Amino acid sequence: MHWIHAVACWVVLLLLGCVPSRGGWGFESLPQSLQVQVKNQGRLADLAPQPWVEGMDLFLFLCRWETDAPVPVVFPEDASLAEREMLRVVLRNWARSGLGIRFRETEASSRGIQIKFVSAGDPVAIPQGAGDALADCRVKSEVQDGQLEASLEFASVYLRRDQDDWLGRPQPMSWDERYGTALHELGHALGFSSHVARGGSVMTRSPEVVRRVGAELQSGDWSGDETLRALYSLPSGTVVGTRVLPGASAERVKRWLAGAEALGLQGPYTRVGDRGSRIFYRGALGETFAVAIRPWPPGEEAGSLKWVLNARAEQQLKGSSRTEE
Ligand SMILES: [Zn+2]
Repeated sequence: MHWIHAVACWVVLLLLGCVPSRGGWGFESLPQSLQVQVKNQGRLADLAPQPWVEGMDLFLFLCRWETDAPVPVVFPEDASLAEREMLRVVLRNWARSGLGIRFRETEASSRGIQIKFVSAGDPVAIPQGAGDALADCRVKSEVQDGQLEASLEFASVYLRRDQDDWLGRPQPMSWDERYGTALHELGHALGFSSHVARGGSVMTRSPEVVRRVGAELQSGDWSGDETLRALYSLPSGTVVGTRVLPGASAERVKRWLAGAEALGLQGPYTRVGDRGSRIFYRGALGETFAVAIRPWPPGEEAGSLKWVLNARAEQQLKGSSRTEE
């Protein structure tokens, strides 16, 4: 009866502007006990899930910070008083928004969230938009009863101080833009690594909405984000979908994972970006051994996914097959 669903969705679409979710999964795949924990789903199903491989299965799961201890946050050393105030307001607002999360400002930490400000001409990769963020999820167990032991361990946030005008000349951003952007990028760092397909969430791609939320934040009118609340109302590591991998991909990735474990590399970690996802380990010097998976989120068939090892991982895989022979 697929056509009935299709017609129903079209009717809803016409009436309410229903937009299908973008994350490649749906709440109906979760056990009833978890579904009832989420009072309001928001646009959580737009979140591209994290990747994990066991046997022939590609597992899709959600990852967030554990809330049993405060998350360490490292402020930029060069932050002005007004910028420090902005970051404190943003963190305070996330902490009060019903996620159960708390933060602790600290000097330096390998765990937690690191924030940096970026100005035009700085010798770093300047974010294309007003800012960018990445968040690394640490996987600590295999899948059991639809659940992985996994949580965010590190996140990095870059916030621009200026943006190019139409002639390519950097212009200082307004405080509304900066507050909204900081809230948005921190939202990525809290585990919502995607953008909502519609609605007034700060996790939108619309700079207009982000700026409006930045103004609300400064006047004390921001009341939190239902999509992030939905993410934090589920246990970190919740599996939201599976795909069966073609034998060759599964074998290669399994062999690589086993090799990384045998070498005693730090990990595994997972990360989701705009175009792809990755599973990776770190070496003693912080160097990464990674397999990138594209496109992301995956469609129903996992056969069209590309699994690309970076140079170190490729070398490691060759090394591990040589010892086998
Ligand atoms: Zn974003």
